[in-house]
Amino acid sequence: MIYVIIILIIFFIFFSLRFSWWRKNISYSYPRVLMYHMISEHLPKNKSKFNRLRIKPDEFEKQLIWLKKNGFKSFTLSELLELENIPEKSVVLTFDDGYEDNFTKAFPLLKKYDFKATIYIVLNRFNKNWATDKDLDKSSNELNSENMLSDEQIRIMIDSGLIEIASHTLDHVNLPKLKKENKVKQIIESKKQIEKIFNIKCNSFAYPFGFFDKDSIDIVEVAGYFNATTTVNGVFNKDKYSNFEIPRIMISGRQGLFAFILKMKKGKNR
Ligand SMILES: [Zn+2]
Repeated sequence: MIYVIIILIIFFIFFSLRFSWWRKNISYSYPRVLMYHMISEHLPKNKSKFNRLRIKPDEFEKQLIWLKKNGFKSFTLSELLELENIPEKSVVLTFDDGYEDNFTKAFPLLKKYDFKATIYIVLNRFNKNWATDKDLDKSSNELNSENMLSDEQIRIMIDSGLIEIASHTLDHVNLPKLKKENKVKQIIESKKQIEKIFNIKCNSFAYPFGFFDKDSIDIVEVAGYFNATTTVNGVFNKDKYSNFEIPRIMISGRQGLFAFILKMKKGKNR
């Protein structure tokens, strides 16, 4: 009997640490900006490091169905910020880097459930060294072997009216580590290229790895972007964050629908 109680207590502690159920719900007047990377069936073996970045398509579909059923309204980030009054239960789906599965796996589901999204592309994503490890500062073979969105796929998504294409720099750089002139180049040149290649306005920006400093914020603003997202964990409270430091809630491929629902309610990763 005592063992059963001990096991139950251990389970309860594990469950509590993992899901932070005691945290109170955050008002739905604050938009939830969600961060995704890949929607993918393909989970490389023995390299679990990046699998949290990969959400299986059926899990992603469950999330969209839950959002729909629970009355969430979907916007691109630019659209949301143009609203005079942001409605309750607003959600923005964002995708970082520009993986091909955003088109092959995510886009069909977005169309099916009528959801919008903002996709941050790396301009030089076909350079096989574009992805570097956040911690080690060396090339990440795993991410570099992923297929990336073609310009043609991007055009089809733009034409659907559901997708906003935004910048994630030219080379997925760690901005605070660069000299000012290189920060300027990465931030401004990527915007110019997106506008030229796709004949659109590029209004939104995401700091690679979520790393930014005062200089990069200033350059993003001066370059003419309207907003930028970070990887700071939380809901977008306008009294707390400027449009150039928008926090996001990271959706992990290692967690199921239950964790997703808690994140939406609590407005935090955990
Ligand atoms: Zn990235």
